[in-house]
Amino acid sequence: MTVKNILLHPDPRLKKVATPVASVSDELRRLADDMLETMYQAPGIGLAAPQVAVMERLIVMDCAKDDDATPEPMVLINPEVVWTSEERSVYDEGCLSIPEHYAEVERPAEVEVSWLGLDGQVKRERFDGLWATCVQHEIDHLDGTLFIDYLKPLKRQMITRKMQKLKREMARG
Ligand code: ZN
Repeated sequence: MTVKNILLHPDPRLKKVATPVASVSDELRRLADDMLETMYQAPGIGLAAPQVAVMERLIVMDCAKDDDATPEPMVLINPEVVWTSEERSVYDEGCLSIPEHYAEVERPAEVEVSWLGLDGQVKRERFDGLWATCVQHEIDHLDGTLFIDYLKPLKRQMITRKMQKLKREMARG
């Protein structure tokens, strides 16, 4: 397995709509393995393919994040939100593409998602709690939406400026 480079905001690739996956190939299975490895190593609880510069509709996540929890890696191909609860919840969200910045985002508290599994079967499951927030955050990535897009413009611009500065410093080495 290979740990991939995670794109940092601002990057035009993080603003693009990703293409549906046409078929579950060995290459796609390898990509899913690499993405899980990259996510665990970061460490994070979710990662979308565009964050590793692959413009396809694929996300991985594992929100069983307590140290003693059994890992629950999930791979969702072409995921779609098919139902959302009226009840909403607020989480302090972060993103591996926007490290060290966190902000409260309000989203539906529960969602039902359908997707294609690595076994080629269509799945459908209801998510709540942190899983619900995570799956919505990751599916947003497939549509070029970041969690900071939900913030007020001033706050979003402040984070973007700090990220531009961080990227300049990193480029200088
Ligand atoms: Zn993210």
